[in-house]
Amino acid sequence: MSKILIIEDEVDIADLVSLHLRREGFEAVQANDGISGLNLARTEAPDLILLDLMLPGMDGVRLFKELRRFPGTRKTPVIMLTARAQTEDRVAGLELGADDYITKPFSPKELILRIKVALKRTERTAEAVESLSAGSFRFDLPAFVCYMDNLPLELTLTEYKLLLHLCEKADTPCERTELLRAVWGYSDAAHSRTLDTHVKRLRAKLGEHANCIETVRNTGYLFRIPR
Ligand code: CA
Repeated sequence: MSKILIIEDEVDIADLVSLHLRREGFEAVQANDGISGLNLARTEAPDLILLDLMLPGMDGVRLFKELRRFPGTRKTPVIMLTARAQTEDRVAGLELGADDYITKPFSPKELILRIKVALKRTERTAEAVESLSAGSFRFDLPAFVCYMDNLPLELTLTEYKLLLHLCEKADTPCERTELLRAVWGYSDAAHSRTLDTHVKRLRAKLGEHANCIETVRNTGYLFRIPR
């Protein structure tokens, strides 16, 4: 089941789109302003984002740039929703690399169709995705190798998985339980010390980049992309 995030301040439109998406078997998540939209994009890991351009808090174009800057959402397909008058914004959006746009008022049927097309296209390219980059770090995914400043790091598989997970969620705090589940498959926090031990070893191996992994008090850890 694909998850679609709708970032749209006009609640009537967002509700209508959600309804149609659910009817088609999609999972729908809604945000009614730019900031919460960006947060949900990072925490919910949607398969596709419907992004209204005129939003309170943070406008759609700025939000889109943020999405593209962040490794976890860099490749998430985005369909922009625009009013007919916003031609310039629409052009800006497409130039920035939005996958598609649809002009209001639109028919939900047409929108669903466009969503399906965009998802298909991503499925195809996802098969070809073989690397992920975050700042000085680059992951060769098929080879399970992480390069730091273009030199391969000597990591155990667990350290590699931990660093990859942190980098995928860069600039967002990862909770201890989330990391334990993602890296070790544990479902409780009883193994917290295992996590701390591995972070310590990982930091030692990152040398001058050790401070990329920040401790978030009472939460867990965060990978900070060096600016
Ligand atoms: Ca709007």
